[in-house]
Amino acid sequence: MSRPGSPGTQPGPERTLPVPTTGGAPVDVGTVSAAPTNPGQALAELHAGNLRFVTGAPRHPNQDAGHRAAVADGQHPFAVIVGCSDSRLAAEIIFDRGLGDLFVVRTAGHTIGPEVLGSVEYAVTVLGTPLVVVLGHDSCGAVQAARTADATGTPPPGHLCAVVDAVVPSLRRAAAEGVDDIDRIVDIHIAYTVEAMLGRSAVLAAEVAAGRCGVVGMSYRLTAGEVRTVAAVPAGAVDTPVPSASAALA
Ligand SMILES: [Zn+2]
Repeated sequence: MSRPGSPGTQPGPERTLPVPTTGGAPVDVGTVSAAPTNPGQALAELHAGNLRFVTGAPRHPNQDAGHRAAVADGQHPFAVIVGCSDSRLAAEIIFDRGLGDLFVVRTAGHTIGPEVLGSVEYAVTVLGTPLVVVLGHDSCGAVQAARTADATGTPPPGHLCAVVDAVVPSLRRAAAEGVDDIDRIVDIHIAYTVEAMLGRSAVLAAEVAAGRCGVVGMSYRLTAGEVRTVAAVPAGAVDTPVPSASAALA
């Protein structure tokens, strides 16, 4: 991404990593792009990496000493991940990526305050990152805590109140839609977070309107390790084919 004053490194060529084998059978999990430059490419890279993780064929790209040295002078992450802080949701692991690939901001329940929005705006405008992902997951403890607090009328102690308060609008939306299942409420909260982020950040909204960035909401399943897209803005710009497990394992 070539923007005036950008501290990011220039994108490198697409690389094909060594093909691993399982039981003597070759496993083709595709290539790992050094630097996707548009929302669709970035989303495809995330899906490809997640598929490698799900199928037990991770490449662990960009985690070697050589790459560490190569990115020391500047970063060019291709995706911002605004994820839940849950310890089972480590972005570089579940998307099978490495150093310099992902700009990660995590809070309980992927709640978004000013510091989160400022971090997202920095990545999008200064680093030129083309994709923002809101990453939630099933059985989210923050959403469950908010639900309990709301149902009992008992606010949690300390700053946990801020997390609960940020989730309550999603609970209201779920109730209005007659949704009671916790994991469907999580999906609604992910979509709400995407909308809220764009509504509160004029900077991000302008980048999306200009076609330089896309915003998607993804839901992760703790047991299966899979992500699925539950919201996308704009829908067309990030609507890329999702690779299948059968295609990944030759
Ligand atoms: Zn969570």
